Amino acid sequence: MRRIGIFGGSFNPIHVGHALIASYIIENSELDSLWLMVSPQNPLKENRALLSDYHRLRMTELVSRRLENVITSAFEFDMPKPSYTIDTLNALQAKFPDDEFFLVIGADNWCVFDQWKSGDEIVAKFHILIYPRRGYDINIPKKYSDRVRVVDAPLVELSSTQVRERLAQMKSVSFYVPEPVEKYIIENKLYIE
Ligand code: ATP
Repeated sequence: MRRIGIFGGSFNPIHVGHALIASYIIENSELDSLWLMVSPQNPLKENRALLSDYHRLRMTELVSRRLENVITSAFEFDMPKPSYTIDTLNALQAKFPDDEFFLVIGADNWCVFDQWKSGDEIVAKFHILIYPRRGYDINIPKKYSDRVRVVDAPLVELSSTQVRERLAQMKSVSFYVPEPVEKYIIENKLYIE
Protein backbone atom coordinates (compact mmCIF):
# COMPACT_ATOMS: atom_id res chain seq x y z
CA MET A 1 0.00 0.00 0.00
CA ARG A 2 1.27 3.42 -0.95
CA ARG A 3 0.16 6.66 0.66
CA ILE A 4 -0.50 9.01 -2.23
CA GLY A 5 -1.21 12.73 -1.91
CA ILE A 6 -3.28 14.50 -4.53
CA PHE A 7 -2.48 18.19 -5.01
CA GLY A 8 -4.80 19.55 -7.69
CA GLY A 9 -4.81 22.80 -9.55
CA SER A 10 -5.03 24.41 -12.93
CA PHE A 11 -1.29 25.19 -12.69
CA ASN A 12 -1.69 28.01 -15.20
CA PRO A 13 1.25 28.22 -14.81
CA ILE A 14 2.78 26.31 -11.91
CA HIS A 15 4.71 28.80 -9.73
CA VAL A 16 7.21 28.70 -6.87
CA GLY A 17 4.38 28.73 -4.29
CA HIS A 18 3.06 25.44 -5.68
CA ALA A 19 6.56 23.98 -6.07
CA LEU A 20 7.55 24.80 -2.51
CA ILE A 21 4.37 23.27 -1.08
CA ALA A 22 4.99 20.08 -3.08
CA SER A 23 8.63 19.89 -2.06
CA TYR A 24 7.91 20.56 1.60
CA ILE A 25 4.99 18.17 1.92
CA ILE A 26 6.67 15.19 0.28
CA GLU A 27 9.61 15.60 2.64
CA ASN A 28 7.64 16.30 5.81
CA SER A 29 4.61 14.04 5.76
CA GLU A 30 3.72 10.36 5.75
CA LEU A 31 3.16 10.44 1.97
CA ASP A 32 5.11 8.03 -0.22
CA SER A 33 4.20 9.93 -3.34
CA LEU A 34 2.61 13.24 -4.27
CA TRP A 35 0.70 13.64 -7.52
CA LEU A 36 0.29 17.09 -9.03
CA MET A 37 -3.13 16.65 -10.61
CA VAL A 38 -3.57 19.10 -13.46
CA SER A 39 -7.24 20.02 -13.90
CA PRO A 40 -8.54 19.95 -17.48
CA GLN A 41 -10.26 22.79 -19.23
CA ASN A 42 -13.95 22.83 -18.48
CA PRO A 43 -15.80 22.84 -21.80
CA LEU A 44 -18.80 24.46 -20.10
CA LYS A 45 -16.71 27.34 -18.81
CA GLU A 46 -14.81 29.06 -21.55
CA ASN A 47 -11.76 30.67 -20.01
CA ARG A 48 -9.49 32.34 -22.50
CA ALA A 49 -6.80 32.90 -19.89
CA LEU A 50 -6.47 29.16 -19.28
CA LEU A 51 -3.71 27.71 -21.42
CA SER A 52 -4.10 24.42 -23.22
CA ASP A 53 -3.98 21.23 -21.19
CA TYR A 54 -0.80 20.30 -23.01
CA HIS A 55 1.29 23.33 -21.99
CA ARG A 56 0.08 23.28 -18.37
CA LEU A 57 0.93 19.60 -18.12
CA ARG A 58 4.38 20.10 -19.64
CA MET A 59 5.23 22.97 -17.26
CA THR A 60 4.03 20.96 -14.26
CA GLU A 61 6.22 18.06 -15.39
CA LEU A 62 9.24 20.38 -15.53
CA VAL A 63 8.76 20.88 -11.79
CA SER A 64 7.82 17.35 -10.71
CA ARG A 65 10.75 15.72 -12.49
CA ARG A 66 13.06 17.69 -10.18
CA LEU A 67 11.31 16.52 -7.02
CA GLU A 68 11.79 13.02 -5.75
CA ASN A 69 8.52 11.06 -5.34
CA VAL A 70 6.49 13.84 -6.94
CA ILE A 71 4.83 13.18 -10.28
CA THR A 72 2.50 15.04 -12.61
CA SER A 73 -0.77 13.34 -13.36
CA ALA A 74 -3.16 13.83 -16.27
CA PHE A 75 -5.67 11.45 -14.68
CA GLU A 76 -8.45 14.07 -14.62
CA PHE A 77 -8.11 14.70 -18.34
CA ASP A 78 -9.90 11.43 -18.98
CA MET A 79 -12.67 12.01 -16.46
CA PRO A 80 -16.16 13.13 -17.58
CA LYS A 81 -16.29 16.94 -17.36
CA PRO A 82 -16.81 18.92 -15.26
CA SER A 83 -14.96 16.69 -12.81
CA TYR A 84 -15.44 17.05 -9.09
CA THR A 85 -12.85 16.09 -6.50
CA ILE A 86 -15.01 13.29 -5.10
CA ASP A 87 -15.35 11.74 -8.56
CA THR A 88 -11.60 11.92 -9.14
CA LEU A 89 -10.81 10.41 -5.75
CA ASN A 90 -13.35 7.61 -6.22
CA ALA A 91 -11.98 6.86 -9.69
CA LEU A 92 -8.41 6.82 -8.35
CA GLN A 93 -9.38 4.48 -5.53
CA ALA A 94 -11.13 2.14 -7.97
CA LYS A 95 -8.08 2.07 -10.24
CA PHE A 96 -5.58 1.68 -7.38
CA PRO A 97 -7.52 -0.27 -4.72
CA ASP A 98 -4.44 -1.10 -2.64
CA ASP A 99 -3.38 2.50 -2.18
CA GLU A 100 -4.50 5.13 0.29
CA PHE A 101 -5.28 8.61 -1.03
CA PHE A 102 -4.76 11.91 0.77
CA LEU A 103 -6.20 15.14 -0.54
CA VAL A 104 -3.77 18.04 -0.13
CA ILE A 105 -5.49 21.44 0.01
CA GLY A 106 -4.78 24.94 1.24
CA ALA A 107 -6.48 26.58 4.20
CA ASP A 108 -8.35 28.83 1.73
CA ASN A 109 -10.02 25.77 0.23
CA TRP A 110 -10.64 24.17 3.60
CA CYS A 111 -12.58 27.29 4.69
CA VAL A 112 -15.13 26.64 1.93
CA PHE A 113 -14.99 22.86 2.16
CA ASP A 114 -18.58 22.71 3.44
CA GLN A 115 -19.65 23.93 -0.01
CA TRP A 116 -17.76 21.19 -1.84
CA LYS A 117 -19.72 18.46 -3.57
CA SER A 118 -19.88 15.42 -1.25
CA GLY A 119 -17.51 16.88 1.34
CA ASP A 120 -18.65 14.38 3.99
CA GLU A 121 -18.05 11.48 1.62
CA ILE A 122 -14.54 12.79 0.88
CA VAL A 123 -13.67 12.89 4.57
CA ALA A 124 -15.27 9.50 5.23
CA LYS A 125 -13.20 7.76 2.57
CA PHE A 126 -9.98 9.76 2.28
CA HIS A 127 -7.53 11.72 4.39
CA ILE A 128 -7.06 15.45 4.04
CA LEU A 129 -3.84 17.36 4.63
CA ILE A 130 -4.31 21.11 4.95
CA TYR A 131 -1.44 23.53 4.50
CA PRO A 132 -1.62 27.11 5.82
CA ARG A 133 -2.52 30.14 3.69
CA ARG A 134 -2.20 33.68 4.94
CA GLY A 135 -5.46 35.10 6.27
CA TYR A 136 -7.24 31.76 6.71
CA ASP A 137 -7.67 30.13 10.11
CA ILE A 138 -7.84 26.37 10.08
CA ASN A 139 -10.65 24.88 12.15
CA ILE A 140 -11.16 21.14 12.08
CA PRO A 141 -14.44 19.88 13.55
CA LYS A 142 -13.95 17.13 16.14
CA LYS A 143 -15.85 14.61 14.03
CA TYR A 144 -13.16 14.97 11.33
CA SER A 145 -10.11 15.02 13.56
CA ASP A 146 -8.89 11.48 12.80
CA ARG A 147 -9.00 12.01 9.01
CA VAL A 148 -8.06 15.65 8.59
CA ARG A 149 -4.91 17.35 9.81
CA VAL A 150 -2.72 20.36 9.28
CA VAL A 151 0.71 20.06 7.68
CA ASP A 152 3.07 22.82 8.38
CA ALA A 153 4.45 24.39 5.20
CA PRO A 154 6.07 27.71 4.34
CA LEU A 155 3.82 30.49 3.07
CA VAL A 156 4.59 32.02 -0.29
CA GLU A 157 1.76 34.28 -1.20
CA LEU A 158 1.88 34.33 -4.97
CA SER A 159 -0.73 33.41 -7.55
CA SER A 160 -0.70 32.24 -11.15
CA THR A 161 -2.79 35.32 -11.91
CA GLN A 162 0.09 37.54 -10.79
CA VAL A 163 2.50 35.56 -12.97
CA ARG A 164 0.21 35.91 -16.01
CA GLU A 165 -0.22 39.64 -15.40
CA ARG A 166 3.52 40.18 -15.26
CA LEU A 167 4.02 38.27 -18.49
CA ALA A 168 1.25 40.24 -20.23
CA GLN A 169 3.12 43.39 -19.19
CA MET A 170 6.37 41.97 -20.57
CA LYS A 171 7.86 41.81 -17.06
CA SER A 172 10.26 39.09 -15.99
CA VAL A 173 8.95 36.16 -13.97
CA SER A 174 12.37 35.03 -12.76
CA PHE A 175 11.95 33.95 -9.12
CA TYR A 176 8.14 33.74 -9.57
CA VAL A 177 8.24 30.43 -11.42
CA PRO A 178 10.92 27.72 -11.32
CA GLU A 179 13.66 28.43 -13.86
CA PRO A 180 12.77 25.64 -16.35
CA VAL A 181 9.17 26.86 -16.37
CA GLU A 182 10.32 30.40 -17.12
CA LYS A 183 12.41 29.07 -19.98
CA TYR A 184 9.45 27.08 -21.34
CA ILE A 185 7.16 30.11 -21.14
CA ILE A 186 9.65 32.27 -23.02
CA GLU A 187 10.41 29.64 -25.66
CA ASN A 188 6.75 29.04 -26.36
CA LYS A 189 5.77 32.72 -26.07
CA LEU A 190 3.07 31.90 -23.55
CA TYR A 191 0.77 34.38 -21.81
CA ILE A 192 1.87 37.40 -23.83
CA GLU A 193 -1.32 37.51 -25.98
P1 ATP B 1 -5.01 31.57 -10.23
O1 ATP B 1 -4.30 32.83 -9.82
O2 ATP B 1 -4.97 31.33 -11.72
O3 ATP B 1 -6.38 31.41 -9.65
P2 ATP B 1 -3.50 29.91 -8.34
O4 ATP B 1 -2.16 30.52 -8.17
O5 ATP B 1 -4.46 30.04 -7.20
O6 ATP B 1 -4.15 30.33 -9.71
P3 ATP B 1 -4.14 27.11 -8.83
O7 ATP B 1 -3.59 26.34 -9.99
O8 ATP B 1 -5.57 27.40 -8.79
O9 ATP B 1 -3.22 28.41 -8.69
O10 ATP B 1 -3.65 26.44 -7.50
C1 ATP B 1 -3.73 25.09 -7.21
C2 ATP B 1 -3.85 24.96 -5.74
O11 ATP B 1 -2.73 25.59 -5.14
C3 ATP B 1 -5.09 25.68 -5.21
O12 ATP B 1 -5.69 24.83 -4.27
C4 ATP B 1 -4.56 26.92 -4.57
O13 ATP B 1 -5.30 27.26 -3.42
C5 ATP B 1 -3.14 26.54 -4.20
N1 ATP B 1 -2.23 27.67 -4.27
C6 ATP B 1 -2.20 28.66 -5.15
N2 ATP B 1 -1.22 29.54 -4.89
C7 ATP B 1 -0.58 29.08 -3.80
C8 ATP B 1 0.52 29.54 -3.00
N3 ATP B 1 1.17 30.67 -3.27
N4 ATP B 1 0.88 28.82 -1.93
C9 ATP B 1 0.22 27.68 -1.64
N5 ATP B 1 -0.83 27.20 -2.34
C10 ATP B 1 -1.23 27.87 -3.40
